[in-house]
Amino acid sequence: MPEGFRVGLGHDTHRLVAGKALVLGGVTVPHDHGLAGHSDADIVLHALTDALLGAAGLGDIGELFPDTDNRWAGAESGIFVREAVRLLAESNWRVGNVDVIIHAEKPKLSAHKQAIRRQVAALLEIPEERVNIKAKTGEKVGPVGRGEAMECHVVALIQSQKNSA
Ligand SMILES: [Zn+2]
Repeated sequence: MPEGFRVGLGHDTHRLVAGKALVLGGVTVPHDHGLAGHSDADIVLHALTDALLGAAGLGDIGELFPDTDNRWAGAESGIFVREAVRLLAESNWRVGNVDVIIHAEKPKLSAHKQAIRRQVAALLEIPEERVNIKAKTGEKVGPVGRGEAMECHVVALIQSQKNSA
């Protein structure tokens, strides 16, 4: 039985391409570019999955869902998060809170942060107040600032079910 708290960090980067839907945290955001990748390329849910797996010492998303496996081609990334939550529960961990930073030059995400928060909380089966979504630009420098890519950082705290009232 695990004890106390653990913390995990997740990061993801995908290239931006024309003609693909932009999906962030399971929410489709209107934009003229989307993220390239094997699944729906949702950087938020990929980084979130890695943060959860890392906190529990369960490896990483590439080990669990290899992009050479055609089962995950075009997959909705929510399934990766749900599987991570299921694996954590098997080891008697539950999610405490998560803090998310999305790095994107465009589009402005302020109007979408609440929808992303709601969707992430639903995937994690935790109240919305335990999910925080932040968005930053790349200040016009680097791959994010030039609009070539988006990145996401997530930190997740998990809690032993034994110690939770
Ligand atoms: Zn990814």
